[in-house]
Amino acid sequence: MSEDSYQQLQVLDERIELRVKAIRNENDWWLCKRGCDHCCRHLASPPELSHLEWMRVDEAVAALDISVRSEIKKKINLLLMQIASNNMPTHIICPYLDEDSGSCLIYDARPIICRIYGYFVARDGDFYCKFIETEVSSRVDSNVVWGNAEAVYNTLNQISGEPIPFEVHYSQATSLPCIEGC
Ligand code: SF4
Repeated sequence: MSEDSYQQLQVLDERIELRVKAIRNENDWWLCKRGCDHCCRHLASPPELSHLEWMRVDEAVAALDISVRSEIKKKINLLLMQIASNNMPTHIICPYLDEDSGSCLIYDARPIICRIYGYFVARDGDFYCKFIETEVSSRVDSNVVWGNAEAVYNTLNQISGEPIPFEVHYSQATSLPCIEGC
């Protein structure tokens, strides 16, 4: 990842974080917080990320302990087999989730979708779960200033290009987490 691109991605992360913090500050009941892994256990499709996001994920995975990488590799391979056989579960569990603790194993390198989910909306679909939807609609006085997902993705597209599907990214052997002897 070039220094310049990396910095642009970090600026985008910071822009998102500002809106996330503002929504949390203005709504002390907001449900998205550490300990909730519902969205990580209910992906609608396998991760599809831009080039820089994939690079950041790969670097973060490569820095994990070998036993953790080994588990991630197993989950990636299972997901690849499910994609190839067109036999996807209704809800996909993210391969980077520590299912025991419910925490993200690559939190600092998590993709943009994970950063905006729960706080951003777009014309063609909102980026939040049914719990947020129910909570917001039950509060007649809520006046949420949602983040603009389209603006985020326009910027991401400019700095990092079109999304690359999970199976395309991991079709390159060098993208799979390297385990001893691999
Ligand atoms: S990358 Fe991390 S935050 Fe994003 S869905 Fe996976 S486990 Fe959750």
